[in-house]
Amino acid sequence: MLLRHTPEKINERHALTINPAKTCQPIGAMYAALGMHGCLPHSHGSQGCCAYHRSTLTRHYKEPISAGTSSFTEGASVFGGQANLLQAINNIFTVYEPQVVAVHTTCLSETIGDDLPQIIDKAGKEGKIPKGRYVVYANTPSYVGSHVTGFSNMVKGMARVAESTGHKNGKVNIIPGWVEPADMEEIKRLAGLVGVDIILFPDTSGILNGPMSGEYKMFPEGGVTIDQLKSAGDSLGTLALGEWCSADAARFLDTNNKVPCRVLDIPIGLKATDRFVDALRIIAGVSVPEEVTHERGQLVDMVSDMHQYFFHKKVALAGDPDQLIALTEFLVSIDMWPTHLVSGTPGRAFEKRIRELTADLPYKVNVKADQNADMFLLHQWIKNDPVDLLIGNTYLKYIARDEDIPLVRWGFPIVDRVGHQYFPTVGYKGGLRLLEKILSAILDRKDRDDPEQSFELVM
Ligand code: SF4
Repeated sequence: MLLRHTPEKINERHALTINPAKTCQPIGAMYAALGMHGCLPHSHGSQGCCAYHRSTLTRHYKEPISAGTSSFTEGASVFGGQANLLQAINNIFTVYEPQVVAVHTTCLSETIGDDLPQIIDKAGKEGKIPKGRYVVYANTPSYVGSHVTGFSNMVKGMARVAESTGHKNGKVNIIPGWVEPADMEEIKRLAGLVGVDIILFPDTSGILNGPMSGEYKMFPEGGVTIDQLKSAGDSLGTLALGEWCSADAARFLDTNNKVPCRVLDIPIGLKATDRFVDALRIIAGVSVPEEVTHERGQLVDMVSDMHQYFFHKKVALAGDPDQLIALTEFLVSIDMWPTHLVSGTPGRAFEKRIRELTADLPYKVNVKADQNADMFLLHQWIKNDPVDLLIGNTYLKYIARDEDIPLVRWGFPIVDRVGHQYFPTVGYKGGLRLLEKILSAILDRKDRDDPEQSFELVM
């Protein structure tokens, strides 16, 4: 009982977070940056931050994550990190020759107040940025927001590369939100099936789920190119998947480059995928292709075949707002009952959406989304009102073990299993995968717990 000290009685806490349901901003910025082709992320702060961010991403993706650091010591902490960053930009372009360096700040450089645009401008004027190479940036102070905020900020930094020539390129920008590389591949596949020419950014497919080829490539194939990012300013429109991760960049392109945007949910589950496919269909001016309809039918078939096992199963969820909103809608649509939800990413709109999606359930859902929302509170809720299933990242395994509840690993980070890099959970195919995982967890538990007289061979 590793969590044996978690009490049932819930006391209001303001100054203490225990097992937070989030991680720090630069991790999100680093993940987004890796979705640019030939990009070396750079952490403007001390070495420890960078090591932590890299190791978290490495543990989740099981891939080496390269990133530079400004290596702050006492001097930079007192006098500012400009000299370190100028030196770093020069070193990185000289030694590693990336197409783009993506700089994000840390708590320390933000507290000092380092002015990234000014320093990057100075680097350009001093000839430290070779012709045709780019430095993008994001401010990622980790004492506000979460890894989701950092992701969104870096995606907005990427949107700043967009240029408007006055000639439309006939493409649609899709900002996929914080999803797995396999999900990004799936979004591209669906858009291709519907016949929409897209610019997807960021795009970590091929970078964080690449093959073992026997040859080390510092910059693997894959990722959105700088030319594509420039061209994003000439696109017909932008589909932003997820309010928290993608909307800021899409609205920036709308305001700055007059590229109209629409914000949708991440296409997780039947309804959200329907809305995504419908948006693509309208853009392409076509009917939904038979192949996509076929995949949808398979998902509906699995739901109807196995509905009795999903029916009124209570679920506790921890994760990020964009993902939890789409997942909650999916679970409710198959008659499961989301019961407790926590997200460490602040946002009142999240709670409002969850309340709307769960309005027809026969009880009021426990939901909390702010800096102090933590797994400790989730555990307390579960002690007071037990659930049949947990869905969330690896950190839920402690609650799963102590309360003997099956856990479906989904979200970020997953550091003790594989598969999330390779098998999508977006789109209809992804919905099948997600249902299969949920169903396996529920049925494995049923097989374990059923008395002999009701132990079934066929389910
Ligand atoms: S929370 Fe701040 S100090 Fe800690 S690792 Fe993240 S950026 Fe560094």
